Amino acid sequence: MAYVLDATAIRSGMTFAGDEWFTTSSVINEVRLGRQGRNLEILQETAIKVMEPDDDSMKEVEGTARSTGDFESLSKTDMEVLALALHLKATLISDDYSVQNVASVLKIPYKTDMAGIREIIIWTYRCKGCGKYYEKKQPDCPICGSEIRRTKKKSRTNV
Ligand SMILES: [Zn+2]
Repeated sequence: MAYVLDATAIRSGMTFAGDEWFTTSSVINEVRLGRQGRNLEILQETAIKVMEPDDDSMKEVEGTARSTGDFESLSKTDMEVLALALHLKATLISDDYSVQNVASVLKIPYKTDMAGIREIIIWTYRCKGCGKYYEKKQPDCPICGSEIRRTKKKSRTNV
């Protein structure tokens, strides 16, 4: 079984003996900059393969993230691990909620330490004051000036 690991998966120190492990160079750099050097050494001992995602997969991930409203919450690294998992048809290891949501839409299998989500969420933005909905994130409501919050517009069960 092939797995793509994100930085949170590496930090958690998960190990899957006998499996193929992949990640991107941006994840390696992120972990190297943190205080998780020991976990990174363990991963390198298990022969983790570092690969970059292809452009087509990146575009597909980016388009999907924009359509679900997760784009704002995802780093470039998050999108790269999604694209790599998509390209390799590998299982993604991430406990990031937005990463999991985009993975669900793209039918990328994923695993996590935490309970997985079972629904696909479309995010929207709603004014706390007047209640008006907005498609895009804004600093505050153009009508009444109140704070805009991200909220769940609709969801469906991911089968
Ligand atoms: Zn308002």
